[in-house]
Amino acid sequence: MYFSKSFIPILKNNPTEAKIKSHKLMLRTGMIKQSSAGIYSWLPLGFKVMKKIEQIVREEQNRVGVQEMLMPTIQSSEIWKESGRYDDYGEEMLRIKDRQNREMLYGPTNEELITEIFRSSVKSYKSLPQLLYHIQWKFRDELRPRFGIMRCREFYMKDAYSFDISDDEALYSYNKFFLSYLNTFKRMELSAIPMAADTGPIGGNLSHEFIILADTGESKIYTDKRIFEVDSTETIIDKNSLAQLRKDFEKYYSVTDEKFNKSEFENNVEENNRLQTKGIEVGHIFYFGDKYSRAMNANVDYNGKKEFVKMGSYGIGVSRLVGAIIEAKYDEKNEIMKWPLSVSPYDCSILPIINKNDNSNLDRAVNIYNELKKNDLDVLIDDTDENISSKIKKFNLLGIPYQIIIGKNFNEHKIEFKEINKEPIFISLDKIIKILNKKK
Ligand code: ATP
Ligand code: MG
Repeated sequence: MYFSKSFIPILKNNPTEAKIKSHKLMLRTGMIKQSSAGIYSWLPLGFKVMKKIEQIVREEQNRVGVQEMLMPTIQSSEIWKESGRYDDYGEEMLRIKDRQNREMLYGPTNEELITEIFRSSVKSYKSLPQLLYHIQWKFRDELRPRFGIMRCREFYMKDAYSFDISDDEALYSYNKFFLSYLNTFKRMELSAIPMAADTGPIGGNLSHEFIILADTGESKIYTDKRIFEVDSTETIIDKNSLAQLRKDFEKYYSVTDEKFNKSEFENNVEENNRLQTKGIEVGHIFYFGDKYSRAMNANVDYNGKKEFVKMGSYGIGVSRLVGAIIEAKYDEKNEIMKWPLSVSPYDCSILPIINKNDNSNLDRAVNIYNELKKNDLDVLIDDTDENISSKIKKFNLLGIPYQIIIGKNFNEHKIEFKEINKEPIFISLDKIIKILNKKK
């Protein structure tokens, strides 16, 4: 993409309406634009990042055997009346009437709809487990939408649902998600810690929130620092190794504030290991047994008997993750962002120094750009006539982790190649291509 033709409306200064750094940076670099309170358009730069996050989430769901599908955003109130949540959900639910005066709603979550889909097709325990997910917009009419896309009203979520015949099998499903969440966040270079959490309006008794530490987070957490050292590398997804993996984490006290108990914390964690801080919830998993299947009569035949299926649900805030990664990676003081390459909007940028009446550096830059494109790399080339220091400032904000700088001493065997925050190295284009493709 040529910068002059891109739709990246960068602001000169930080927007005054934003309070936290991710919101500031996203507005500043034209990743999003507010359309009304808590509702945003995703402009090309922000959209690219969100799509890359979505793809990682998808691959890690698929890897543990979850099947992708797509449910609509608009649901009928009938199924919510069956589960009893139509009244319970309160004002966070956006309720709509269609022309036939039927009560509809914009889905805030999908336990009811998936249960309805499940019960109409699955009749025997032999088809279990069923693990299903979709990635879809949700709407929650939050009391106080704030912090940009971190707590907004319309947001993009991956939600998955599991159906099993017994508690034991259902916990195995739960643990598959537990592992896939650890792997998902690791690929985004985030350290997300599973914390025992309250189940809230979803119900049930087993739940973990995946939290990344950040001062601007809205979740209060209390944890044993040693949990950060737990090795989560697990490739086998058999029942025992996954149960063990969860135990390795649960060995350390680690809870969100609804579950916090001062004496428990102090009795379980030595003083020098105690950490009380704030974090951002990027994922949340629940096990709630037959809460919905009983209310909605979702059962299967099990040796001649009807059994209510045991269910869990599993969310990831795909759009919130864009902000969460910025909170973790943006050096606000020096105005330097560095996206993990796995989610970066572009793989590399090319910054030619362009002098008046002399297009030679731009020509060189375009040649390199074409070569990189041929090698499947996604590149943003700054073809504007801004001076190089303002180009570098601008690209430090955009956060594309690698830059090629083309200046007066250009030598095609020793191209200036720089990773943000590191010293430049001088190498051939072939080597640059190898590095970028290897890291991708
Ligand atoms: P929170 O405690 O932050 O309100 P929640 O517990 O209501 O979230 P879940 O129902 O667990 O949220 O939804 C799954 C994921 O969706 C959350 O972990 C979070 O990452 C994301 N999410 C929830 N609400 C919002 C929102 N208003 N804006 C953006 N993302 C959200
Ligand atoms: Mg939650």
